[in-house]
Formats: sequence, structure tokens, C-alpha cells
Amino acid sequence: MSGENKLIPPGSTIGVLGGGQLGRMLAHAGNRLGYRFVTLDPTPDSPCGQTASQIVANYDDKEAARELAERSDVITYEFENVDAGVAAMLESESYVPQGSALLYTTQHRLREKKAVEAAGVKVAPYAEIVSLESLRASATNLGLPAVLKTATGGYDGKGQWVLRTERELEAAWTEASQTGTELVLEKFIAFDKEISVIAARSPSGEVRTFAPAENIHVNNILHLSIVPARIAESVRGEAVKLAVSIAETLGVVGLIAVELFVTPDGDLYVNELAPRPHNSGHYTMEASKTSQFEQHIRAVCDLPLGDPALLTPVVMVNVLGEHMQPVLEWMARKDTAAERLGVEPKVHLYGKAEAKHKRKMGHINVLAPSVEAALKWVDETNIWRV
Ligand code: AMP
Repeated sequence: MSGENKLIPPGSTIGVLGGGQLGRMLAHAGNRLGYRFVTLDPTPDSPCGQTASQIVANYDDKEAARELAERSDVITYEFENVDAGVAAMLESESYVPQGSALLYTTQHRLREKKAVEAAGVKVAPYAEIVSLESLRASATNLGLPAVLKTATGGYDGKGQWVLRTERELEAAWTEASQTGTELVLEKFIAFDKEISVIAARSPSGEVRTFAPAENIHVNNILHLSIVPARIAESVRGEAVKLAVSIAETLGVVGLIAVELFVTPDGDLYVNELAPRPHNSGHYTMEASKTSQFEQHIRAVCDLPLGDPALLTPVVMVNVLGEHMQPVLEWMARKDTAAERLGVEPKVHLYGKAEAKHKRKMGHINVLAPSVEAALKWVDETNIWRV
């Protein structure tokens, strides 16, 4: 069942497919509103499982998914690579207000690009690649540099090859074609900034957007989200308008994160969509009147959406495995830099047992009188030098 309006009152149980940090923060926000949570995740004692009851099973385990459906009044997901069979089964056996159509679209770069274009929004010029010959022809048409990407399964820069010269085409094709997935070539956008806008839409059609974030990646992993984004007001307004148009045209229920490239001329191109809470929206936990997590719960339960207004400048900085030790040392001492700069760093750790290199372990929302003060604090702590 999907596509209908159904109020899910507090006291009900929300099932979350996926037990990572996004599920954990959804559960924290939902618990506050009186909801109970059950999560399905293969890793025992998952970040979400620590705050909810957990079914320990693989994501494509239909029996486990059926159990999740039986125990839940409404089901949501915290990642987009949900097995298509499981998604369809959950929809028929339970209530999944987000539906499976949006998942189907966002699981595949080509389908996603067509849907974005149908909403009247630009994506980087692209072509489907089926052979070395088509790669050569498209590289000529689109021009180099260009980025070859797998249509499915890529994240954090995995499954991507940046092509700068024609000599690189053959080797990239050999590697990429071995992935066995469809491929797409995108024109390289010489962007000035990367930003994201998170919109929420309820089944009743109410849409609210959060303040656009300026995102800085290191080694293809999000490092900083700076809010307000340092962009022209006209670009900010346009980005918000595009996100609303995408949420409405795609019939989104819950959150949709829209990642955009901003060119030096202020043109906007959609890079990617994510139909779930997004790392670049973690800043909303303290810096917005309503967090992205509460907003998602409100949307899927068809409660009136909260006010997403920004309360303060903020910089969200991710804590990866290699930052854990310095973060723990910093937490144990008095922070004179924060006092001097007048900033308030708010720590969120996800309860992951092993601090593996590059693994997202937590984040810090640095509330500040200005984004410059917050950035100065990030620089002065020395935590992110490793
Ligand atoms: P993605 O996995 O598509 O989000 O890409 C990861 C990162 O690669 C983006 O955040 C950009 O920094 C860069 N990138 C991806 N596609 C392009 C493009 N067409 N032009 C320029 N940079 C890109």
C-alpha cells in the first residue's frame, strides 16, 4: 500500500530498513515524538539497533522483511539500495508511504537524470555508454574532461573514472566494463561550489525546504557542510525552487536530498538525488527549528511538517575513523578555542564499535556567530589534520 494519506499517530511502531547512523538519528527524533522503532540490519548492535529493537538479517532476506512488516505500522528506509523484490513485498504487505517508485528511480543514474530533466531541472550533459566505441564517440561529443560512472551501486566516488585525455578512455572502459553494470558518461562541470538542498514532502502534498548547505569533500567523502552556503541570494533562491520542483514532480514522500553543482556563472546542475536523510542535513539537528530527522518522521506519518528555518550559522564537520582518537581527547579537555571564538561544538557519535579508516563515526555541529568563526574552530582544533 502506498500513495494514500494515512496518519500514523505517536505510539505506533516505525520500521526502518537499515540500521546505520541515519536510522539511529531517525529513531532519536521519533522517540521524542512518542514513536517506537524496529530496524532490520545484518550487523548486530547496529547504530540504530542500539536505540530500537533490531531484526538481525540481510537486507534481501524476504522472511526477515516480512517480520519487519508485521511488527511495523509504517516502514521507511535509510539507504537507497533496497532490494527491489523486498521493496515490492514490503509495499504489498505493509504501509510504505515513500513507495518503491522513487527508489527505483534513484537507484539508477540514467533513470534519475531523466526524472530530474522531467522536473525541468538541468543535469550535466550525459550519454549512456555501451561499448568502447560509444565511449569514444560520447567523449568527442561531450568533450573532455568527463566522468565515467557506473549507473548503479557507486557512492563516495567509488565506480567513477575522471577522463582527461583520449589516451585514458580504453583503460577506463576495460575497468568500468568489468563491473557488469550500465555506464554513463557525464561532462565534467567546472563548478565553483557544491551545494545541497533537502526538501520534505508529506502525503498531503505539503513541501518544506531546509537552508542550502555548501559541501566540501575530501577524498570524495563529505568533510564540511557550511550553512548558510556562501552563494549569491539569487542562486540560493533558485536552488530551493529546483528542490521543490523535484519533490513535487517525483511525488516524493519524506525527504529528498538534491546535490547540485554551482558554476562560476551561477548556473545549477543536479548531480545526485537521495530519497532519505542526508549527511549534508545533519546540521539541522541543532541549527534549524526542526531537524531533517524529525521532518522525515513527520512526513511519513503525515503529521504537519515542522518549521525548517535556520536558527544560527553552523558548520557540520564529519568525524571519520582516523579522527576518533583526537575527538575523544578533545572531548575530555576544556575547549578554550571554542570559548575564545564564541562557538558551540555539538558532538554526535554513532556508537560504531570499530573506528575504521574513513568510516563515518560521528559529526560535530559547530554553532557559531558566523561560518568563518566555525571554520576557524575546525582549523584550530587540529582534529582534522590527520
Ligand atoms: P557522485 O558520486 O556522483 O556524487 O560524485 C562524487 C564527486 O565527484 C562529486 O561530489 C563531485 O565532486 C565529483 N563529480 C562527480 N560528477 C562530476 C561532474 N560531472 N563534474 C564535476 N565533478 C563531478
